[in-house]
This record gives sequence, structure tokens and C-alpha cells, in this order.
Amino acid sequence: MAFDTFPAIVTGTRMVTPTALCLAFRRQDGQLLDFKPGHFINVHFEDQQGETHRSYSVANPPGEDHFEIAVAPVEDGRATRYLFGLKEGDKVNISGPYGRFVLREEHCDRYVLVGTGTGITPYRAMLPQLARRMKENHARVDVLIGVRSREEFLFADDFLAAAQVTPGLRLHARYSRQMPGLPQSYESQGYVQGLFEELELDPEQDIVYLCGNPNMIDEAVAWLKSRGFPVKRIRREKYLSANA
Ligand SMILES: Cc1cc2nc3c(=O)[nH]c(=O)nc-3n(C[C@H](O)[C@H](O)[C@H](O)COP(=O)(O)OP(=O)(O)OC[C@H]3O[C@@H](n4cnc5c(N)ncnc54)[C@H](O)[C@@H]3O)c2cc1C
Repeated sequence: MAFDTFPAIVTGTRMVTPTALCLAFRRQDGQLLDFKPGHFINVHFEDQQGETHRSYSVANPPGEDHFEIAVAPVEDGRATRYLFGLKEGDKVNISGPYGRFVLREEHCDRYVLVGTGTGITPYRAMLPQLARRMKENHARVDVLIGVRSREEFLFADDFLAAAQVTPGLRLHARYSRQMPGLPQSYESQGYVQGLFEELELDPEQDIVYLCGNPNMIDEAVAWLKSRGFPVKRIRREKYLSANA
């Protein structure tokens, strides 16, 4: 498949958890990347094994002078090696945006946005759009974040700030490995799917977005279908490896 790539410049690199890297880019031609919250891009690169590409969700809302991705390292991963070696000023080949994991124009009482690890980044990009939609349509939003521990909750400040100023937006962080000594009311232990029961998901009113770990998505979809959710009310973005 031929990709229409464009050059972009790395404008920032920062660690957003002890292991996850956030990279910021600007298109070299100075234009803004024209994307919708929830879209992903492909990063194209060449290494000893040849040319390849990997996909990453855009992690910030449209309209900013740069676009960001967050990368979780994978042992011996080709893109991991390439992306973690980048520095400010480097040129990168990118294609996109792509994808259908976006908020559609439709009525919905509640969005349930579920993500594991870096799979929460599309929801960070959606925050302003969600706030507008909640105001216009009185929709509610539950954001469910599944990570191993509090320190892996990337972009936590942005989600917490949004939950504070947006009535109807609730945040739930679920830690699979380690609970903090003094948990906050939005924090609990277990897998993120464990929250579905207590949130009383409604197959007729809710729309569920699932992003990240493929196992989480498969389990969540099975649970939702068993509770009567029609496929059209379930949206998913699996972070599949190119080699999987
Ligand atoms: C639509 C889409 C969006 C994505 N968005 C993001 C994103 O925002 N952030 C992000 O970090 N990733 C994202 N991914 C995953 C990303 O594209 C790469 O697959 C990931 O970064 C690993 O690439 P790599 O080249 O480093 O590893 P590879 O060289 O592809 O894999 C190295 C080895 O590790 C295994 N492996 C690969 N991934 C994993 C894993 N997650 N867990 C365990 N073993 C693994 C492979 O099977 C292989 O054996 C997305 C994937 C898709 C399809």
C-alpha cells in the first residue's frame, strides 16, 4: 500500500510516565494537521530490517500549533527504538490522519470511554469536543482509565482538570497492580472492565468506546454483548502490533 507521507519536525520530547514518551511534531510545511479527535497517524521509518511504519493515536485536540503522540515502550520493538531515539529538530515521515474512532453526530445520553495505557490518549484529544457536546446535548461522560499503577496514569492532570470544570464528566482510574497508599475517590483496584457493573451501563442509551490493549477490548466486547449492547453502540480501536 502506498502512503502519502509528509515531513514533520520533532518540537518536543518528554516522559509522561516513568516509561511512556510523549512526542510533539509540527508539519514542516507549517500547516496544521487536519484531524478529528480520535484519529491516528502512521510514523514511517527505516531500520536494518527495512522500511516500515507504526500507528499512534493523536493525543492532543485539533487546532494547536503541534500534534502529539504518546508511546509505550515495547521490548525489542522497532518503532520503540526509533521513536525513543528521536530528539528535538529531527525530521520524521508521517502519514494520515486515519481512523473511524471519532465522536459521531448522533444522540447519546452517555459516552463511556474506556482506555488502557496509552489507549487513553484519544480521549485527551476529545476533551474539548466532549465538553461542547455535553453542554449542547446534556450528555454525560464516564472516562475509565486502566493502568497498572497511579504513576502510569498518563496525562492525569488534564483528565482531572477536565473532570473538575465539566459537570457530568466523571473520571475512574483503575489500577491492576498497585493501589496508592491514600487513594482518591476516583481510584480503585482491578481491571477496568470491573467497573462496568457498577456504572450500570445501559445498552439503549450509552455508547461505549474501547481503546488500547486487544485483550481488554475482546473481554469488554464480550461482556457488553452479553448485556445486550448492539454492535453499533460499541466503538473500538485495538492497539495491535504490526507483527501480531
Ligand atoms: C490504530 C493504532 C493506534 C495505535 N496507537 C498507539 C499509541 O497511541 N501509543 C502506543 O504506544 N501504541 C500505539 N499503537 C501500537 C503501535 O502501533 C505499535 O504496535 C507499538 O508501538 C509497538 O511497535 P514496535 O515497532 O515498537 O514493536 P514491534 O517491533 O512491532 O514488536 C516487537 C515485539 O513485541 C511484540 N509486541 C508489540 N506490541 C506489543 C505490546 N503492546 N505488548 C506486548 N508485546 C508487543 C511484537 O509481537 C513483537 O514480537 C497503535 C496501534 C494501532 C493499530
